[in-house]
Amino acid sequence: MNFKLPELPYAFDALEPHIDARTMEIHYGKHHQAYVNGLNEAISGHDISCPCVDELLASIYTLPEEIRSAVRNFGGGHANHCMFWTMLTPGGSDRPMGELLSAIDDELGGFDHLREQFTRTAMRRFGSGWAWLCLDVHQRLVVESTPNQDSPLMHGHTPILGIDLWEHAYYLKYQNRRDEYLKACCHVVNWDIASKRYTEAVQRKAHPVTA
Ligand code: MN
Repeated sequence: MNFKLPELPYAFDALEPHIDARTMEIHYGKHHQAYVNGLNEAISGHDISCPCVDELLASIYTLPEEIRSAVRNFGGGHANHCMFWTMLTPGGSDRPMGELLSAIDDELGGFDHLREQFTRTAMRRFGSGWAWLCLDVHQRLVVESTPNQDSPLMHGHTPILGIDLWEHAYYLKYQNRRDEYLKACCHVVNWDIASKRYTEAVQRKAHPVTA
């Protein structure tokens, strides 16, 4: 089996001026492609029948040791970026809705507080990684950060929103100014998709599919 680069749901320049076209082109076409290639190389010759990269990461500790760290890095990179592209949309969609908004109010002290907490968490990540809004194993919302390409799926959390903190995501336009990049992301976050992911994740955990 072979993993593939998913189609980008908008043009490279669609997120201008917040995220520039050149960054998008390199980020998607070079960086994400390299994660896909690395993952395919890592699993080639191994009996990996799992068709979904998210499932592969959720069961990372059961994989053969010799491919575990490559799958963690390249598979994590593939999964994180697949989600990241859908988390952005031209024009953004303002704020969370429905059940997600209620959960943010009840569990995180409201949308403004979430934004503060998310920014603080993202700014504190030393080096490369991701900032996340996730559903934890107790079905509670948490704001967290992972290093490198580690996915929250590896510790049983379901990502609702993820923002890439690698310099390759912002260096051409923002150089070292991660705070400006984070503010720019707020203009293009797709809260509709995040709200949908939340509802689906809650339903999935309430009614797990049993084989
Ligand atoms: Mn990236």
